[in-house]
Amino acid sequence: MNDVAKALRGFVADVGPGVALSLEACVHCGQCAEACQFYVQTGDPRYTPIHKVELFKQSYDREIGPFAFAYKFFGLAPKLTAETLLEWQDLVYDSCNMCGRCSLICPMGIDIAELVERTRHGMFEAGLAPADFLGALAEKERATGSPFGLTSENFGTLLHEIGEKHGVAMRVDEVRADIVPTISSIDVKTYPGSMAAIAKILNHVGESWSFRTDGFDADNVSLTAGDRAGQDAITKSIVNAAIGCEAKILVMPECGHSYTEMRWEAANSFGRDLPFRVLQITELMAEMIQSGKLRVKKVTQTATYHDACQVSRRGGATAAPRVIMQALGVELRELEDAGAENWCCGGGGGVALIKRAQPLRDKAFALKQKQIEAAGAATVYTSCSGCRQTLEHGGKAAGWKVTVASLLELVADNLAP
Ligand code: SF4
Ligand code: SF4
Repeated sequence: MNDVAKALRGFVADVGPGVALSLEACVHCGQCAEACQFYVQTGDPRYTPIHKVELFKQSYDREIGPFAFAYKFFGLAPKLTAETLLEWQDLVYDSCNMCGRCSLICPMGIDIAELVERTRHGMFEAGLAPADFLGALAEKERATGSPFGLTSENFGTLLHEIGEKHGVAMRVDEVRADIVPTISSIDVKTYPGSMAAIAKILNHVGESWSFRTDGFDADNVSLTAGDRAGQDAITKSIVNAAIGCEAKILVMPECGHSYTEMRWEAANSFGRDLPFRVLQITELMAEMIQSGKLRVKKVTQTATYHDACQVSRRGGATAAPRVIMQALGVELRELEDAGAENWCCGGGGGVALIKRAQPLRDKAFALKQKQIEAAGAATVYTSCSGCRQTLEHGGKAAGWKVTVASLLELVADNLAP
């Protein structure tokens, strides 16, 4: 089967009644354009959100829509070719961080970010996920369960090393555990202290908890690359690991899309309701603070907060970080458009993993940079390692004096007896 046939198979496989309705519902009002960072920062009409799923729409019209025959017969929708697919690759990957701002604003309720995700399924089937690094990491994740090839055995060893380095007891593969935290591969590579922070907090409150080495890396690069089978496999391994120790709560790390995957899509992959709650780490900390189980010291600092799109707008966990910062006594200077209407850091949806996307990513980041600088705080906290990394890189290039930091680590460093 050639690339075009594979892509068509991927698109057609993803078109159910809901998607078809969405594709038919657009009234071409253009409002989504002003919601999109890539359009706003460049003024390029190609970056209008609904245009990014035009390829999907054309395939639908021509292959399975109610007037497919007419579309084909009169040539109303162009035939998909290998050249078209290649032309569309940068629109579907490089210029969409799957932030969902367009979905929020669309008066017809079209979830354009979801359609972009589905378009990526077809592109991946055709072997057209950008090879460096996004596609390569997805391939590795499919083969090993982790985008950086971290095996179960190595993860267990790594946890014990981190525990020793940070002076915190790690619990690994306990037979039973009420709470099972997961990690992001960005944490493994760049922020290992975040794993020590989770352990420190859960030990401090005396919870029954454990990391699992048979399902731990929630990063799910496959989701952003468009590898549906890989995405399901990762999700199922984590769900089964949590079930294996009778977990009551599965905790998603400081990672945006891992949270939306587990919160909204995992039950579909798994085939039934999950037998545990799924909480993002900020939600768990906020719940424990509100119930009095977790007590924190006051810190004296002024800071701002960057909402990760997938945690806040797409995940609904907007209040939790603010509950935590209030308990810590942080003087919070909110960014313009903070909360559900926030702008992406610029690197979400796998855009940070596409080398050639850097100039475009930098333009998207510039919007966030302006907002963070306007807040006038010395520190910007976030609850997503991907955002943290993008903000750090962008800030370094811009010669920032603003420190980018993890809210999880701030809590772990300020536990009260
Ligand atoms: S906002 Fe919605 S209806 Fe308007 S152009 Fe965009 S997708 Fe179409
Ligand atoms: S999801 Fe975000 S980046 Fe993608 S098209 Fe919509 S607004 Fe633009």
